[in-house]
Amino acid sequence: MSAAHVVVIGAGIIGAATALGALREGFRVTILEPGEPGGEQAASYGNGCWLSPMSVIPPAGPGLWKKVPGFLADPLGPLAIRWSYLPKVLPWLARYLWAGWTEAKVLRAAQALRPLLVDAPALHRELAESAGVGHLIERRGLVYIYETREQFEREALAWRVRKQVGIEWLELDADEMRQREPELDRRYTFGALVEEGGHCRDPGAYVAALVAQAQAEGAALQQARATGFRVEGGRLKAVRTEGGEIGCDRAVICAGAHSKPLAAAVGSRVPLETERGYHAMVRDAEVGPRTPMMPYDGKMSITWTDRGLRCAGQVEIAGLDAAPNWKRAEILRDHLLRSFPGLPRDLPADRVKVWMGHRPSMPDGLPCMGPSAATPDVLLAFGHGHVGLVAAPRTARAVLDLLQGRQPALPMERFSPTRFA
Ligand SMILES: Cc1cc2nc3c(=O)[nH]c(=O)nc-3n(C[C@H](O)[C@H](O)[C@H](O)COP(=O)(O)OP(=O)(O)OC[C@H]3O[C@@H](n4cnc5c(N)ncnc54)[C@H](O)[C@@H]3O)c2cc1C
Repeated sequence: MSAAHVVVIGAGIIGAATALGALREGFRVTILEPGEPGGEQAASYGNGCWLSPMSVIPPAGPGLWKKVPGFLADPLGPLAIRWSYLPKVLPWLARYLWAGWTEAKVLRAAQALRPLLVDAPALHRELAESAGVGHLIERRGLVYIYETREQFEREALAWRVRKQVGIEWLELDADEMRQREPELDRRYTFGALVEEGGHCRDPGAYVAALVAQAQAEGAALQQARATGFRVEGGRLKAVRTEGGEIGCDRAVICAGAHSKPLAAAVGSRVPLETERGYHAMVRDAEVGPRTPMMPYDGKMSITWTDRGLRCAGQVEIAGLDAAPNWKRAEILRDHLLRSFPGLPRDLPADRVKVWMGHRPSMPDGLPCMGPSAATPDVLLAFGHGHVGLVAAPRTARAVLDLLQGRQPALPMERFSPTRFA
């Protein structure tokens, strides 16, 4: 009997990890991707590179609703909502705020996310090594930095919840900070170092390598956009693309922030939005952090990559189609310059590369994983929001379990595509 044929829709980190895993489980695999695997069109290209098993706190916390007027008034704040997009996003926004309404809700989300993220740096290392790019995964911890201990204490709820789900950290005082990060601006006098964290030196190259490895192991890569499905008698017959149909037995929707219409085509209406984010990256940076870091006041990550010193962050709710607001990337760049005074004030424009991408975000900060409403042959695997990179290996494992009819090791109820029905 010939192997079942799976079409993996989208070659971001979720699709790439899933495709490689499916091949190794004996499936015939076609990867469908309109862009370059690992290319700039994907969130997986330009993210903050963090493999952060401690990223368990949903984006909205208690009391966030009070700040909504500010999000609307300040188009350049770390979280901004475009007025013109407000009517469209209101239902999603209400669910987003509700998901973090109380500490108990935040804890429940953290309890759901932790098993998806735990051991991620080790799992990524294994995956990367199997594609010949183990060097892209580093495990030297991740550090949150604060000007004062009092700032850290303002985030007590998040740290309390992290502790409750088993995350540990080391607190660094001003002396330790200076020793560890001599080039960092002296205004930062307190740090929380999470040693279990890691990072990827080049997420775009990583995704490209996983897809190349999948091709080397027999996957077909088809450069086309999926447009829908042919389902007959409750069974999948084909994935429809701009260039015709691909006959197959199973399909996995991993098209990131673009997954919503595909899910709807198989009967699954999910509240997926884009939380747009930006990066600014300085080529040949003179100085930077020893450990990837996140300044409290900048709400962004600062990480060395093989392409330059990258600062990534910002949340902009403005939909998939609005033009980027590059001032937001400039804010990141300026914050980076303030954090590392050894960087030249007058950086020439050609040394700074800016990027905007789409986090695929569910309102509760948890991904959407499971069978579609119309047929169990089509699986949904998207909506990882701020944690898609770190969550990829365990997401791929869960999808493979579902493809094989096995009970996933991961508790899946909180990720169910029907949870908002
Ligand atoms: C600024 C920023 C910083 C971030 N920092 C981090 C971080 O440090 N750590 C972390 O874990 N996460 C981080 N994230 C989130 C993370 O990048 C995403 O969650 C993750 O990349 C999503 O991966 P994906 O494969 O689901 O989607 P994507 O990477 O977006 O890939 C989807 C792919 O599907 C393709 N596609 C779209 N439509 C179709 C179609 N119709 N048919 C076929 N293919 C299609 C696209 O071309 C694309 O290549 C960050 C995101 C941003 C924006």
